[in-house]
Amino acid sequence: MRKGLETLKRQALDEIAGAHTGEEFLAIKTRYLGRKGLLTDILRALKDVSSDDRPLLGRISNEIKEAISAEIDGALARLDAEGASDALLRERIDVTLPGRAVRYGTIHPITRVMGEICEIFSQLGFVVAEGPEVELDYYNFEALNIPRDHPARDMQDTFYISDSVVLRTHTSPVQVRTMEKQRPPVRIISPGKVYRPDSDVSHTPMFHQVEGLLVDRGITFGDLKGVLTYFLRRMFGEETVLRFRPSFFPFTEPSAEVDIRCVMCGGSGCRVCKQSGWLEVLGSGMVDPEVFKVVGYDPEEYTGFAFGLGVERITMLKYGISDIRLFFENDLRFLTQF
Ligand SMILES: [Zn+2]
Repeated sequence: MRKGLETLKRQALDEIAGAHTGEEFLAIKTRYLGRKGLLTDILRALKDVSSDDRPLLGRISNEIKEAISAEIDGALARLDAEGASDALLRERIDVTLPGRAVRYGTIHPITRVMGEICEIFSQLGFVVAEGPEVELDYYNFEALNIPRDHPARDMQDTFYISDSVVLRTHTSPVQVRTMEKQRPPVRIISPGKVYRPDSDVSHTPMFHQVEGLLVDRGITFGDLKGVLTYFLRRMFGEETVLRFRPSFFPFTEPSAEVDIRCVMCGGSGCRVCKQSGWLEVLGSGMVDPEVFKVVGYDPEEYTGFAFGLGVERITMLKYGISDIRLFFENDLRFLTQF
């Protein structure tokens, strides 16, 4: 039996020496030391040997068990260590790799064009003025010479908060608020959000306007034409052709719509300009003396001009965008093009 034990030990150690993977080592452990293992069988058989031989055989058996166990545990520990260092090697940082690109956001096209507009007028000496979006009926209509029975004051064209408070339908109230606070000369540009209950391919309930106002002694329609011509040529290119078309606004007199030669077809007529060859881009006029009286300016002493434009419209024309709703859908495929 003692010889059998020695043979078993040699056989086990040989197998261990020939094994490479963790599974192989564990299989050997099970084969010899498991509950139905070869060595376990021998230890179980010890109870049948004579009581004289039992202590010695028992001791040898336990030594063999421990030897096999130690060999396998040692081999597994070495494997673990190698595995860990392999993982470390794989994990090492390759400093020669290019860095991960940082994804920058882009400025929203409306914000970008509004910035451009303000920059052009700033260079002409206009300063930015702002006013509330939730506005008193008085500033939005009354003070701008828009009487109670004017169609613009209809519920269908204005969001009413209460009888005397509205969401401003244009940026023009800022004109009145500014003139109330300061004496001429006034030279302001007022960008901001305005609200009207409209929604289709060319209207959204919220959109952006830029209002301009210049008041001083001796301001004429010639100044209006000069400033707006300069502005539109900066915006759409030096070759831009303009047309001033008589119009009506309650707070300017005379008033003019300003058209530019169609940027899509060059004037020959297309879908965008509805075959007219012209695109309406802004409204303008000389400030009505009635508005000056409201804010306490003497219409005999001061004259001025005002204009207003839709930022979405200018942006659509500038970039050839056909649906205004694209601006507010937050689709990155659209927004990242700017
Ligand atoms: Zn056209």
